[in-house]
Order: sequence, then C-alpha cells, then structure tokens
Amino acid sequence: MRIAFLYNGAESLGLESISALLRSKGHEVFLAFDPFVALGRRFPGSNLVPPLNARDRSTAERIKAFKPDLAGFSCFSGNYRWSLGIAKALKEELGIPVIFGGVHPTAVPEKTLANDFVDFVVRGEGEFAALDLVAHLESGEPAEKLASIPNLCFRSGGAVRINPVRPYISGLDALPFADKQLFLDAGAIGPDTPYLLITSRGCPYSCTYCSNYMYHELYRGCGAHVRRRSPDNVIAELLHAKEKWNPSKIHFLDDVFTYSGPWLEEFIEKYRAQIALPFYCYANPGNVTKESAALLKKGGCYLAGIGVQSGSERVRREDYGRLETNQRIIETMSYLKENGIRVQADNILGAPSETVEDLERSLRLYRTIKPDIIINFWMTYYPRTKITEKARERGLISAEEISRIEDGFIGYTHDTGSVERKRTALLARYEFLIELSCVFGESRFFPLLSKLAPFIPFKKLIAHLAYMYTSLRHGIR
Ligand code: SF4
Repeated sequence: MRIAFLYNGAESLGLESISALLRSKGHEVFLAFDPFVALGRRFPGSNLVPPLNARDRSTAERIKAFKPDLAGFSCFSGNYRWSLGIAKALKEELGIPVIFGGVHPTAVPEKTLANDFVDFVVRGEGEFAALDLVAHLESGEPAEKLASIPNLCFRSGGAVRINPVRPYISGLDALPFADKQLFLDAGAIGPDTPYLLITSRGCPYSCTYCSNYMYHELYRGCGAHVRRRSPDNVIAELLHAKEKWNPSKIHFLDDVFTYSGPWLEEFIEKYRAQIALPFYCYANPGNVTKESAALLKKGGCYLAGIGVQSGSERVRREDYGRLETNQRIIETMSYLKENGIRVQADNILGAPSETVEDLERSLRLYRTIKPDIIINFWMTYYPRTKITEKARERGLISAEEISRIEDGFIGYTHDTGSVERKRTALLARYEFLIELSCVFGESRFFPLLSKLAPFIPFKKLIAHLAYMYTSLRHGIR
C-alpha cells in the first residue's frame, strides 16, 4: 500500500518507527513535512476546522502527487488543529482513509472521531496497530473485523468503537531501526542535524502535567511501562548511523536516560569504544548519582537536561507530583557540573497553587544551582493529564474549557499556556528574572534588576533574547 504521513514542527521518532515497520513489510511510505509549528493562538475562539493557508496547501499538494491509498497523522496537542485542517481537505479531494495517532488522539479518541473525515484513531503504541489496519484495508476484509484490531478506534453504526490496547511492546530490540530516510527525504533533517534516538520507552515517574500519567492509566495491567533496548542493539543502530550519515552529535531523547545504573555502565563502555560522539540526554534529579554523572562524562555527554520545574518543594510535590527535594536538585547539579557537563534546566511557570513566595523560591534556587540554560514553560493543561483533572476539581477551569482543550484549542506553552490573564504579568516578570539569572545571576546588580523588573518593558522579548544568548554561548544551537 502507499501510505502518506503528514507532520510538522520537528522530527518524530514515533513516525520513523512506524514507517520502518511498514517499509519492512513492503509498503511504500511518504512524508509531507511542514517545518511550521502551529501556535495555540493561531486559532483563537474558533470551533471550526481552520481553512488551509498557502503553506498547508503546498503540503496537501505534495500528498496528492504521491497518490496515497491512505493518509496518517501523528498528533500532539500543538499540531492537532493543523492536522484536522489538512485531513479534511485530503478527505474531500482524495476520499482516502484517514488515520490519526499520537498523544492527543490517544487521550480523546471519541472527540477525534467526531470529525467525520477521520476514519480511524490508533491509541498508544502505533506500530502493530498500523500494520494490522493496513493489512485489513489491503485485504478488503469485512468491516466487522476491525473490532479485532487492538488499539484501534473507529465509527460503526453511528457509534464510536474503542478497542482495548494490546500489551506494550516488550522486545524493543526486535523493532527495525528508526526510518531516518523518511525525514531526510522530506527535507526535515540534514547532514548537520544531531542524530536523535531513544533507548527506552516509558518513564518511571508520573508527573501530573505529563502524558506519561495517561499512558500509565491506559496500559494498566498491560506489561511493564518502562522498557529498554539492549546496549548492543542501540550501538548497532549508531554504527549504522555513523556509516550512513556520519552525524557529529547524538541526542538521546529517552524520558529519563539515567534511570538504570547497570545499563548505563554497560552502555557507556560500548559507546565510548565504538561510537565516541558527543551526546545530549535527559537526566532526572531523582536518579543522578556521583557515579552516573561520571559515566555520562566518560561517554561524552556535553549537555544534560534536567526537570527542576519549580524552586518550591511544595509546588513540585502538590501540583506536579514530583518528590525530589531542593537538596537533591542541588546535589544533582553539583555532580553534573563537577564533571564539566553543561546543564539545561526546565522550569514551569504558573502552577495552580503557585504564589509570589514560590516564584521567589524558584529564583533563589536557580541563582544557587546556576544552570547554563533555563527553558521556561508556562503551565499548559493537556487532555487527560492529572493536573487538568485537579484544575477542574479546584474550579480553576470549567468543563467547557476542558472540552475546548480536548478539541485542540490549547495555549502555547512558550507564550502564556493555560495561565489566567490576571497572572500573566507577574509570571512574565519571573520568566524574565529566571532567564536573566543565567546571564547576570552572580552580578551584585541582580537585586536591583529584580526591583526594577516591574517597570522594564518587553520582558518576554528580553527573556527570549537571554535564552538565545545562553544557548549560543554554550554552543547548543
Ligand atoms: S519525569 Fe519527565 S517524562 Fe517522566 S513523567 Fe515526569 S515529566 Fe514526564
């Protein structure tokens, strides 16, 4: 079969994995890629599928030229409306089956299928469900057979059918390597792009704002949530990548790269001997030790991302479900910095119960731990996350607002997210100060800057420039 994928923003390891499996079974796969990421504000207040703009039209034209038998969309909340717009146009012009997968449709399959131009939703891990569905469409089996495809959701007799999920894929080594060619051919990545991969699936934690909470619920009783490839399998992929594309950097995008000491020890020995390329990974304050930090350094880690999210232990615990103490975060930073590893800290502004005192605590913590880069995210309520449920229980958002979130009308997390208008000025001030603490945090003038902050215009722009400056200074971008 000829399968067209549509995607925007950045490379997707999920699509690459599905594509690799489909190609290994003889199917033809094509990707139409749009580098533009839809912002939440692009569609203010409209419940209609947005009309296609010129760029979207060219994406749809590329698909039409491929003459696909079906079209597949992988959606996160930020590209969901964009995907609906193009899917509607494709359905009208080509009349082919349209499949939606990814985190947003997994959270709200019934809402996604309320759009009559979406024929199928695949929930959870998509590889084998996509393969089964393609085989079904190719064979012309009766529609009743759809009920036997795990992970699949579809309309039948005017109702939405939601099949149970199959167990998690436990043997990740058996999957083909990610299909990088898909994104290379689409012009989404090039020779200078870091080589992205994951060595594991799932996260041992369950932060309230993260989709892992939803996956834990969806797959309850369906096998171990966290699964990892063998070190040898990862090395084999990287040897293949070196030979074929000669990347200069590797980015491990595992939710938490450092969660298993024995795995890391074995992997780093092999990586050092056979790959020896600088790499980036996500660490976690819950499990970085002196030993694991030294191993990362030994392997060539030049940058580690860690989720700090707030300097208030109360906000982290009560709002975010994160149990590490500030002392643990300080130790994590010192282990990484003692090894000469640069650190990128993630911060979230606008937790439901965050007060000025909590924001002051954040500023103090960042000035203490001195990350090289800080990325500020604004609290954004995503469908079926625990924090969205909690916000509703506390009366912070209404059922109507949740419904709009489920329809993909979601604030942009680097803009003001889901934060109420009355809090944005205060939070913008702390975003500004937290970003500038990376540049001037040690200056004796910083307290004066804090006092003047309310009167300084263009704080968001300055914060963004500070972020760009620290990224360039540390050779990240
Ligand atoms: S540690 Fe990161 S990936 Fe894991 S649940 Fe928390 S936010 Fe999600």
